[in-house]
Amino acid sequence: MLRSQNNSNQINGLHHGGEPAAQFWCNPRIGDTQLAANPALISLEDVKTAEARWQRFAPLLGALFPEVRAAGGQIESALIPLRGPYPDLPEAGSAGRYWVKADHDLPVAGSIKARGGIYEMLLLAENLALEHGLLDGAQDYRVLAGQAAREVFGRYEVSVGSTGNLGLSIGIMASALGFRVTVHMSAEARQWKKDKLRAHGVNVVEHEGDYARAVAAGRRRAQDDPLSYFVDDERSMALFLGYSVAALRLQAQLAEAGVAIDDGHPLFVYLPCGVGGAPAGITAGLKLLFGTAVHCIFVEPRASACFLARLQHGDRPGISVYDVGLDNRTEADGLAVPVASELAYEQVAHLVSGVVTVEDEALYADLYRLRESDGLKIEPSAAAGFSGPRALLGTGPGRAYLQASGAAAVLSRANHIIWSTGGLFVPALEHDAFAERGHGIVAARQRAS
Ligand SMILES: *Cc1c(COP(=O)(O)O)cnc(C)c1O
Repeated sequence: MLRSQNNSNQINGLHHGGEPAAQFWCNPRIGDTQLAANPALISLEDVKTAEARWQRFAPLLGALFPEVRAAGGQIESALIPLRGPYPDLPEAGSAGRYWVKADHDLPVAGSIKARGGIYEMLLLAENLALEHGLLDGAQDYRVLAGQAAREVFGRYEVSVGSTGNLGLSIGIMASALGFRVTVHMSAEARQWKKDKLRAHGVNVVEHEGDYARAVAAGRRRAQDDPLSYFVDDERSMALFLGYSVAALRLQAQLAEAGVAIDDGHPLFVYLPCGVGGAPAGITAGLKLLFGTAVHCIFVEPRASACFLARLQHGDRPGISVYDVGLDNRTEADGLAVPVASELAYEQVAHLVSGVVTVEDEALYADLYRLRESDGLKIEPSAAAGFSGPRALLGTGPGRAYLQASGAAAVLSRANHIIWSTGGLFVPALEHDAFAERGHGIVAARQRAS
């Protein structure tokens, strides 16, 4: 890939001279009517069709995974009021209310990838089942856990490239259905994620390179084999639609909590972003439901700000973080991605309010704070959302966005949702080490101030 030395390729307007604060970049193309006229954009019907598929599969999911049986086979997370105190979150009350959308706790896959990865496996299983006459008018999808179905699924190999969590969701779901599974892991992937997959009988292939290369290797190997199915994180509409269903679920949870969402009661959603599929799917769904009342903000590690780079260079599909002088070095393994998904970009380039970039230190500090004050156990990537309100409410560009969008006048009636995206399966000792590191960072900051 070409590396440009040209200054115009730098990430614009962000200055990090030694200061770890989160930065906000406002997306100038929000509301762009030309982008909004794209016939490829998903519709609310598409989201509802995806939700109907989840419902058809709920009995089967309950049968395969005891942990979701009590919930009727629903894979969903709680919406939790944030207790705090969070000394460096802008004050609750004057800035509205804070919530955590607890996808770190999503059953079966342990991360937000449950929404996309599991959904794509359900779609695959349904298509094969119809093709092979396995359902034959049966309304109860539990037949797909039976011997005949397993025999059919076992002829196919599912493969995927992953920094860890997508591999977990695909590996756990596909192997439960009887598929053979290969996961191509990029260099960032944590050892325990590989171990867990191998314990599920998954073939784990380790790659030296970054995420884009692991995906390309998987795609190439699957190409010529008709019994091979490749889950393409950079191009998959199925993943995207799976994620989008979160919007319907959140809408119901907000209604149940008595939270009004309209232009007088804006909703801010802070979404950790890797390739952009998960945050974009959720954004597309939320914008279809709430329109201008919802403001979706992506959060990326500064070194892996690929979605930001793509938004800033609308004429350069495939632009990587290396092209803009960044090195993709972050300990947020779930977000360590050099190139944004073109599908995600195309779907939301006109819907994202802005992008926040964070330093790794902030992730550990927030991971520690959340564990201490709210008892929630998240992985470093999942802490990115906490820097969202800080950058939106506490920086010049963020406040300019609030003014321009009209949200500033009604800020005390706003709701802020920090989307926490992974953590359930992190081994206890590993989490202790994360928290200890975060504690050190928080303590050093207190001494300095
Ligand atoms: C994958 C992932 C994300 C972001 O999803 P993308 O579709 O890659 O943007 C966020 N947090 C965690 C923990 C993840 O694993």
